[in-house]
Amino acid sequence: MILDGKTVSEKRLELLKEEIGESGLYPRLATVIVGNDPASQMYVRMKHRACERVGIGSIGIEIPSDTTTEKILESIAKLNRDTDINGILLQLPLPGQIDTDRVINAVKTEKDVDGFHPTNLGLLMSGKPLFSPCTPKGIMNLLADYRIPVAGARVVIAGRSIDVGRPMAALMTNADATITICHSRTRDLPAELRNADILISAVGKAHFITPEMVKPGAVVIDVGINQLNGKLVGDVDFDAVKEVASAITPVPGGVGPMTIATLMENTFFAATRMS
Ligand code: NAD
Repeated sequence: MILDGKTVSEKRLELLKEEIGESGLYPRLATVIVGNDPASQMYVRMKHRACERVGIGSIGIEIPSDTTTEKILESIAKLNRDTDINGILLQLPLPGQIDTDRVINAVKTEKDVDGFHPTNLGLLMSGKPLFSPCTPKGIMNLLADYRIPVAGARVVIAGRSIDVGRPMAALMTNADATITICHSRTRDLPAELRNADILISAVGKAHFITPEMVKPGAVVIDVGINQLNGKLVGDVDFDAVKEVASAITPVPGGVGPMTIATLMENTFFAATRMS
């Protein structure tokens, strides 16, 4: 079974559009992008397009790459104060000279629709999330839509970043799964991955996950976005692994659209809390 994130996300966006319409609110998202990395620019454009589609206003703050941490902090402070702005999305990564942690920590918790602020990550860890990071939350929503049971399942996650691996583990823990997090220092990664009922890969290496690493019948979630011979591919060798897995997300059209839909949902949630 192909887990069609594109279709599920469209369904969720339609539902959200109705909810926003009925709420009488006009949620607004501000995106902050530093520099002109083409991939980041493309992600931000996609987010603005999704906003337009569901009835969320959006503004884009563009800051040149030769900026300073202080200048970005000033922009964030302004957005924090602006009562017309409900959500702030800081497009990562930031240029090397910037203190990324300081900038993330400056985003007001109530507007932190990406869920990367330590307070939001802490709330998630404590089992009482306010805003959860969009990619792992989107994956939970995708699994729920396909009625794939998570409680009691053995979930193995490859990757321990704060945007995917770590919050994914927390969300899965909160949903009663049994979790293993793997990373670059994991001994015998294939053996760990073969234990998975649900295997989630967020490593960022094309065709990294091969059929030998997948238990027959496992659900495979591919978070990776990689370029291979001019084509967009995930971490999973899709054609080979789909023969072993019971369900698998494609790249593109799997996790990516779910991430954007979740950002829209988080922004509306922020607006309802502020109203
Ligand atoms: P990251 O670079 O911060 O983290 C990569 C992780 O992979 C690290 O924790 C590292 O320990 C682990 N890793 C590296 N080599 C490994 C190995 N040989 N064995 C096991 N683990 C290994 O990356 P990230 O931000 O988590 O992103 C990962 C991938 O997911 C990237 O391709 C990124 O573009 C993609 N991504 C997609 C979405 C989406 O919406 N689809 C969102 C975020 C990230």
